[in-house]
Amino acid sequence: MRVKNKKRFLIASTGLAALVILVIVVLTIGIWHSNEKLAEAENNKNTQTTASLKVTAAKEVKTIANTQSAVMGKPAQTIINEEIKTSNEVDTTPAINSTATDSITILVNKNHSISSTYVPDDLVTVDLPSTRNTQLRSIAAEGLTKLFAAAENAGFELYCCSGYRSYATQAELYAWNVETYGVDGAELVSARPGMSEHQLGLAMDVTSAAEGFDLLESFGSTPEGLFIKENAHKYGFIVRYPEGKTNITGYAYEPWHLRYLGVDVATEIYNSGKTMEEYFGSN
Ligand SMILES: [Zn+2]
Repeated sequence: MRVKNKKRFLIASTGLAALVILVIVVLTIGIWHSNEKLAEAENNKNTQTTASLKVTAAKEVKTIANTQSAVMGKPAQTIINEEIKTSNEVDTTPAINSTATDSITILVNKNHSISSTYVPDDLVTVDLPSTRNTQLRSIAAEGLTKLFAAAENAGFELYCCSGYRSYATQAELYAWNVETYGVDGAELVSARPGMSEHQLGLAMDVTSAAEGFDLLESFGSTPEGLFIKENAHKYGFIVRYPEGKTNITGYAYEPWHLRYLGVDVATEIYNSGKTMEEYFGSN
């Protein structure tokens, strides 16, 4: 090979090598970049899922809150004044009730709270006419099914509105009520997290078509509300926050809020005319 050809060969092969290196570099950058894009897309997907879950939870809280907002037509103080009227003060014969969270007679109120981590282990989805999917502990669901059947036989159609609520849902609901009505107003219509019977899976809010599926005080004087008031105990439930007992229960009249206690205790409470607090001799 002559010197001139050798030089050309060297230049050509160096050029070729440089070109090969360039192609490799470009391809590597391309692959790295598209991997990054994929990771980013995956990340976005996860963020979207979390966001839509949050939206769903917020929607549930708003729906529950809206159904009870009608109670607040009156200023909170008016409700307190109306409700604090002469209550039948009788000497209490304290019944024995268990403080175990799983006990169906546990007392939960503003002075007796339960753990933020408590979730009943026997929750079932209630298979009854409902305004939304809702759950109860199985024994309470059985009682409610019998109560609804008795109501139907009497010509009334009841609807479940809100049963079990997690600690987190109750926290959001209470916060919504504080934001909307202030602390005093919220305290009358909404339990603080850990102080709600709904977290026990033993309470159900019921309504009817005539009440527009809302939770209204007027429900108490409708035929459906009167049927509940006079018959719920036969199936293990009491109207937990009766009219005129706000000074004892701490809550405004809620003709829709049923608490499961079992037939025996519910019947005794019904016959005594006492609130659960009075019956158990505990505030
Ligand atoms: Zn309730």
